[in-house]
Amino acid sequence: MSNLEQKVNELKTTGVYRELPVNEGPCEAIIRLNGHDVINLSSNNYLGFSNHPRIKKAAQNAIEKYGVGAGAVRTIVGNMDIHEELDRVIAKFKHEEACIVFQSGFACNAGVIQAITDKGDLIISDELNHASIIDGVRLSKADRAVYKHSDMDDLKRVLEEKRTQYNQVLIITDGVFSMDGDIAKLPEIVKLAKAYNAMTYVDDAHGSGVLGRSGRGTVDHFGLHGQVDFIIGTLSKAIGVVGGYVCGSKVTREWLLHRGRPLLFSTAMMPAAAAAIIEAFKMLEETEAFTNQLWDNAKYFKSRLKNLGFDIGKSETPITPIMVGDEAKTIAFSKELLKRGVYVSGIVFPTVQRGMGRIRCMVSALHQKSDLDRAVDILYQTAKDMQIL
Ligand SMILES: *Cc1c(COP(=O)(O)O)cnc(C)c1O
Repeated sequence: MSNLEQKVNELKTTGVYRELPVNEGPCEAIIRLNGHDVINLSSNNYLGFSNHPRIKKAAQNAIEKYGVGAGAVRTIVGNMDIHEELDRVIAKFKHEEACIVFQSGFACNAGVIQAITDKGDLIISDELNHASIIDGVRLSKADRAVYKHSDMDDLKRVLEEKRTQYNQVLIITDGVFSMDGDIAKLPEIVKLAKAYNAMTYVDDAHGSGVLGRSGRGTVDHFGLHGQVDFIIGTLSKAIGVVGGYVCGSKVTREWLLHRGRPLLFSTAMMPAAAAAIIEAFKMLEETEAFTNQLWDNAKYFKSRLKNLGFDIGKSETPITPIMVGDEAKTIAFSKELLKRGVYVSGIVFPTVQRGMGRIRCMVSALHQKSDLDRAVDILYQTAKDMQIL
């Protein structure tokens, strides 16, 4: 244990050690954190679905019908009709041929990438791709290459240099980059993939429920239906529950039911979660009011920050970083904001590069304009006091 003790002590001396905050109620715009009411600018609950009465009711009804656990992995006897229905509901919503749901977005990347690639293949990954993609790629027998973030010349260079040496090539990108809030250059990626006969894989965890018509995602945003081979999404962020999925062709679903290891070796999602998610998609099919409210709030918040002179990087979505740089200062900023009534998490290495510390503000449809105004005032005063602005 002395090895771990030394490492933890190092976190403490460098100022990046943190205690986990404890939320004493549901995830809302105002939360009770460690005994104090604070404005919540840190959740991925973009649309406010995680505590929505209709969705909770659907989960409660499903508990009565199915109980709380699925009882086995999907490939044995954990595959309930509600799981099958959920796959169909998502495929229809996303305008894709088929879908298969996993226990989480992380499990999806960990299981899918290794199942669809093999020795003799090459995976080309954006340098800022999410940790679960990086881990998923590590589990594959394929070779790997990285291209500079959203740099299409660099992606082309890799394809030009390496395409002929491999059987299959898979290009992987986040749809929306989770720490900067910028959108992948999907039309260009698809074009390059076609030119070099490569497959495409988009992890749209922060795009689903946010971009496109009623949150149909980055593929819908760019009108690229049918042109991306593997579309990954999460049910844990905007959809407000838990889970992950891959949409694409029918044969992808068939193959993953035989070789997608989290489906074979980890118990199926709680049936009540499936029921809650089905209700959430029903609501998105009915109205764009949720996504409209999210974007309205995000635009308002971002324009106020910009006008005050904050550096919000290259965000194009509700993910709004405030760049700080120094890691210890980032953590100190976040701690001070919490004391003053705003919870916004500090993001430092290894989540982002060293020296690229930032706080990451997550706006949601739940926020009232008055919540956002108060948050901006506190952000401004604190940044002034700490010489960040
Ligand atoms: C959050 C996130 C995940 C993980 O999703 P979970 O459902 O929370 O496991 C995967 N990929 C990306 C890009 C993410 O932002």
